[in-house]
Amino acid sequence: MWDYQGKGELHLAAEVGKKYVIIGNGIAGTTCAQMLRKNDLSCAIWLLTNEPYPLYNRVSLPRFLQGVLPEQKVMIRTREWHEEQQINLLTETVATRLDTEEQVVYLDHGGPLKFDALLVATGGWANPLQVPGAMGANRIYNFVTLDDTKELISTALESKHAVTCGGSFIAYELTEGLNVRGVHVTWLMRGPYWLRNILDEEGGRLVDDIATRHGVQVVHGEEIAEVVAANGLPQHVVTKTGKHYPAEMIGVGLGLTLNHGFLADTGILCKTGIVTNEYLETRLPGVYAAGDVAEFYDSMIGHHHTMGTWDNALAHGRVVAVNMAGGHEPYIDVPTYTSPLFDTNIAVMGVAESNNPELHSISHTAPGDKGNQDYRKFFFKENRLVGAVFIGSPKGRRKVVEIIRSGQEFGTQAEREGLFEVR
Ligand SMILES: Cc1cc2nc3c(=O)[nH]c(=O)nc-3n(C[C@H](O)[C@H](O)[C@H](O)COP(=O)(O)OP(=O)(O)OC[C@H]3O[C@@H](n4cnc5c(N)ncnc54)[C@H](O)[C@@H]3O)c2cc1C
Repeated sequence: MWDYQGKGELHLAAEVGKKYVIIGNGIAGTTCAQMLRKNDLSCAIWLLTNEPYPLYNRVSLPRFLQGVLPEQKVMIRTREWHEEQQINLLTETVATRLDTEEQVVYLDHGGPLKFDALLVATGGWANPLQVPGAMGANRIYNFVTLDDTKELISTALESKHAVTCGGSFIAYELTEGLNVRGVHVTWLMRGPYWLRNILDEEGGRLVDDIATRHGVQVVHGEEIAEVVAANGLPQHVVTKTGKHYPAEMIGVGLGLTLNHGFLADTGILCKTGIVTNEYLETRLPGVYAAGDVAEFYDSMIGHHHTMGTWDNALAHGRVVAVNMAGGHEPYIDVPTYTSPLFDTNIAVMGVAESNNPELHSISHTAPGDKGNQDYRKFFFKENRLVGAVFIGSPKGRRKVVEIIRSGQEFGTQAEREGLFEVR
């Protein structure tokens, strides 16, 4: 009955119903598998990942890097859980090609797998540092996987100086993690401030102040031009303007490339991500995308976009399971991203995109608790609030999410500025 001839024992229900294949066992893929099983005991589910682990919590990786969380707390699912759920988890297995006519996924070993409905929930690969000296050198790390984190930790324990690069959340998490491990970090950012697609100059300066107060050397308008290594180990980096910074290790936060290359020539539309409608279905019936890799139609703002947050991927996993099983549920949500920021916090709600010409924003900074500053920025599409960013006190976050969800109109400037008072 099964085309799969690879490793792994199958424990199928007596009557096998629909066949589902899910590529990617992150929070989107694993949630989808769980929901499919919950709603249908007779279906067969294949869950693939190129990584060696069952689902773990990527959001916890920064705290694992800092040493405040042990590895076992990062793990969310065990192999036994998949067996109990009769979900066939194939680890260290790469989906290499898709035949949409035959409805078959080809794997790098074993397989192929036939499906009635397919979910692609493959997230993204981290962009590597591509400068002279970087290719052959060791101790240059991305920060996306559990294995990346383990390597970062072991090198941080032996290092005094690190350089991190990038203006993204990941670059910040690398910087803080290494700083907490007692490594002196120089943080290089090409842009004028951190998170320039979300914040503005004022918010960026606030983050610089916080990082500097914790001993990080923050350098703007700079990027690594060369890595100087000896015996394959970095010694220092040279920047575009010719400055030298010592670095026994380098943390790279230069963004992600979403994983849909293996869908080339299938007829599935891919732009930044895999384009779907609000039901998370691609233009090929029966083929869906969810999580970071989905460029989904967001009916909250009336256009397509990708969103790289845990809550969004989890909610996608729930909705897409309904639709793969024949339901018709649109994805409508206000995802939030919250993270500690040294000794304060950042929360991003809904659609917070400074580079989106359809949105306009207002921001404000005020004295906050414990000597910190409270920064708030609100994003509007026409008169509707669609997103917000808080740095500092998270008070009022839930109310703001409710307001975004309700579609309430803010016709005047005074009404908009009233949002700064929401607590
Ligand atoms: C260090 C770090 C910190 C973060 N912190 C936060 C935070 O504080 N808050 C927040 O909201 N979000 C955070 N995020 C983002 C959040 O973790 C992601 O949005 C979320 O994990 C995306 O889930 P996903 O299921 O879409 O994809 P992923 O978790 O990326 O899972 C996709 C899986 O598919 C596998 N895969 C890819 N291609 C193939 C293939 N061809 N064959 C087989 N397997 C394949 C990948 O290797 C991966 O295992 C953080 C991310 C990182 C890396």
